[in-house]
Amino acid sequence: MMHNLTIAEQIIGLKNRDFSSLELTQHYLDRINDSELNAFISITKEHAINQAKLADSILAKGNATKLTGIPYAHKDIFCTKGIKTSAGSKMLDSFISPYDATLSEKLNSENMVMLGKTNMDEFAMGSSNENPYYGAVKNPWDINRVPGGSSGGSAAAVAARITPFATGTDTGGSIRQPASLCGITGIKPTYGRISRYGMIAYASSLDQAGPMTRTAEDSAIILNAMAGFDERDSTSANKSVPDYTKNLSKSLSGLKIGLPKEYFSEGLDKGVEKVIMKAINDYEAMGAEIIEVSLPNSMNAIPAYYIVAPCECSSNLSRFDGVRYGYRCEDPKDLNDLYMRSRSEGFGDEVKRRIMIGAYALSAGYYDAYYLKAQKVRQLISEDFKKAFKEVDVIMGPVSPTPAFELGSIKDSVSMYLADIYTLSVNLAGLPGMSIPAGFSDSLPVGLQLIGNHWSEELLLNVAHQFQLNTDWHHSSPVD
Ligand code: GLN
Repeated sequence: MMHNLTIAEQIIGLKNRDFSSLELTQHYLDRINDSELNAFISITKEHAINQAKLADSILAKGNATKLTGIPYAHKDIFCTKGIKTSAGSKMLDSFISPYDATLSEKLNSENMVMLGKTNMDEFAMGSSNENPYYGAVKNPWDINRVPGGSSGGSAAAVAARITPFATGTDTGGSIRQPASLCGITGIKPTYGRISRYGMIAYASSLDQAGPMTRTAEDSAIILNAMAGFDERDSTSANKSVPDYTKNLSKSLSGLKIGLPKEYFSEGLDKGVEKVIMKAINDYEAMGAEIIEVSLPNSMNAIPAYYIVAPCECSSNLSRFDGVRYGYRCEDPKDLNDLYMRSRSEGFGDEVKRRIMIGAYALSAGYYDAYYLKAQKVRQLISEDFKKAFKEVDVIMGPVSPTPAFELGSIKDSVSMYLADIYTLSVNLAGLPGMSIPAGFSDSLPVGLQLIGNHWSEELLLNVAHQFQLNTDWHHSSPVD
């Protein structure tokens, strides 16, 4: 079946005319239509069919690029010209973007085919996809469980093979954690690697886009198309983009892998720990050397992140005022009433909670005690990594302390925040991080996290690909 092919295989299939882009697209549209995961907010059927026909004509002429005609799903946080872009919020339910995000432009310029926009936690705030205005997304391995968040729609869709790949964003784990909980491969590159222009901002100093695929090879192929400098994003890095597929087959002999002792303490589910340790043994068998490292400040990542991210979100989300765009309340009495009611009716509870925390922490009397302090902790976390990377090439550990939990089972926000313990520090330090399928605990997928030094995406993808050459976890599927 076409949906069991990886992107690398679909590229060959299109080239050899085994199937057309239109056939491939139609196949996925049918699968999306039959799916009960609620992974999509918008299905852009007509648009997809037109793009597929165009791709087929380009393929026939012989002037296609590598990705021409490959379908994908786009997280609904990326602006898409003429197409609804909601960020999972009632605030933007009627927003039709007048322009394309740089990432959308880049994928369009390859003549790829966008199948639709995926469901997500409102404004990317969440770890379970239980916060979207459009209803919870279900995990294809067990529909009573969460797919993770905030890119849960993207992860569920890739795992269920209703799209060959999807875009995601990761502010504190939103590519890696849903990838882990759904048993797929996802990479959050170094901060600044992919343009944030047209990606609806949550916490600007942490936000980073990345590919969510089934294999590391596919992630490398897609990252090639996503990465690069953009003068419209002042934080995008003016640094050349290597061919991420080039070093995939390099041997791992002599690779130094660091295991942070703080990551293997109480709170880590025994079943998850077993999977991670087995994967580490596999790496040892491939010739890697395992070294214990210490990241002493890593446990402070939760308090630091949950100050910095809400502060930035309170500032970023102030633009949604009911005046310029987005939701507007009915019959406002005056301007103040318009602001207040539009925001209280347009935003969901978790978003409001974070705006309030951020506004409080940034206020004149509390700025030093909270925001400044959190920034100092952030610096300490970065220095921990810097020290560790003097000794090792890559750090490994769990992505999430547990496999996918049941929908509705985590009731308070703080307990939900604790689930982000292993992912947040990577964003605070601006490092690249990856999740790869490493096994199962109680029949639920478990991801292994790979963390690299700045700009080491090539190495991470190589390390991930070698694991996938030696194991079959990435081929496990929740569907036929
Ligand atoms: N779970 C984290 C949060 O809620 C991270 C979300 C993300 O990476 N977008 O903020």
